[in-house]
Amino acid sequence: MGKYINILDDLTINKIAAGEVVERPSSVVKELLENAIDSGATQVVVDITDGGKKCIKISDNGSGILSSEVEKCFLRHATSKIKEIDDLYDLYSLGFRGEALASISAVSNIEMITKTKEEVIGTKIVLSGSKIIKKEPIGTKDGTTITVKDLFFNTPVRAKFLKSTHAETINISDLINKLAIGNPGVRIKYINNKKLMLNTPGDNKLINVIRSIYGKEITDNLIEIDYEDEKIKIYGYIGNNNIYRSNKNLQHVYINKRYVRSKVILDAINESYKSIIPINKFGVCFLNITINPSEIDVNIHPTKLEVKFQDEKDVYIKIRDIVKNKLLNISLIGKYTSYT
Ligand code: ADP
Ligand code: MG
Repeated sequence: MGKYINILDDLTINKIAAGEVVERPSSVVKELLENAIDSGATQVVVDITDGGKKCIKISDNGSGILSSEVEKCFLRHATSKIKEIDDLYDLYSLGFRGEALASISAVSNIEMITKTKEEVIGTKIVLSGSKIIKKEPIGTKDGTTITVKDLFFNTPVRAKFLKSTHAETINISDLINKLAIGNPGVRIKYINNKKLMLNTPGDNKLINVIRSIYGKEITDNLIEIDYEDEKIKIYGYIGNNNIYRSNKNLQHVYINKRYVRSKVILDAINESYKSIIPINKFGVCFLNITINPSEIDVNIHPTKLEVKFQDEKDVYIKIRDIVKNKLLNISLIGKYTSYT
């Protein structure tokens, strides 16, 4: 029998689309924290209750949103970051799809309080499952505070798949650490169930962020990398042969402040470590790479961490040689001899 074809209504479309962007509480934290960073904030406070299942509150001192634009930012494909596709070749923001707030607000109860510098009075807007419940003026400081409550309250099947508070907290902490390392110029304070988990200085010094997350043992064994040519800038730290891991968890690579998992870059780094640490172990690195956005493709799926370079080989050789030369120049620490 022939079937009728339905045109889905906006609410249904949003709920389905939300599944792509908002998988779990840490995806909400990622999107909101990225928005705060994109807004030019120098300070962001992340406050989480019960692994984000109950409440996620993120407050920034960034640009704020004009009262006239506040409703718009919850619509799908609504963004202030690009206007046309060519803008992607000159993109330095973390977001650009205009999907996050639409998706998050479709599956939660959300409250946003915001004010720009040019306005005297701020705006408060409350939404529940994409529907605007209220919008009113409110006295507040410059910047934006978003509170997301009752995640997946209207999609019970998804709510059932949420993990334990502990597991969700680990995801969130991991995500915040990554964004903090990629953005040492932003002071990030992270509170979980009233406990202070992280407080980075925001002094633009990567080493200080690494210290606040990983402590002295790691920090004391790092070597600075500072390279720049007309195409690429590489700044960060690599571990000496005294610290290594059995997995790649401490191999952090950022491109234009975005955390990425790039096979090309990780292969280059691991090649450089080959002769100085034991087989099947991995060196530690925190590398911030700045490259002209036209040299990379950021337009891959929002939840994917891959990145594509125009000239992969060039990037591979450059990173390999820079890291290798640095490692050759250090005096190797005693441990090494026992593995040769
Ligand atoms: P995107 O980040 O891809 O543009 P979002 O749905 O995450 O899409 O946000 C939509 C828009 O809302 C942003 O483009 C921005 O203009 C505005 N916005 C969201 N969060 C903030 C914030 N914390 N500060 C200032 N503006 C924000
Ligand atoms: Mg965004």
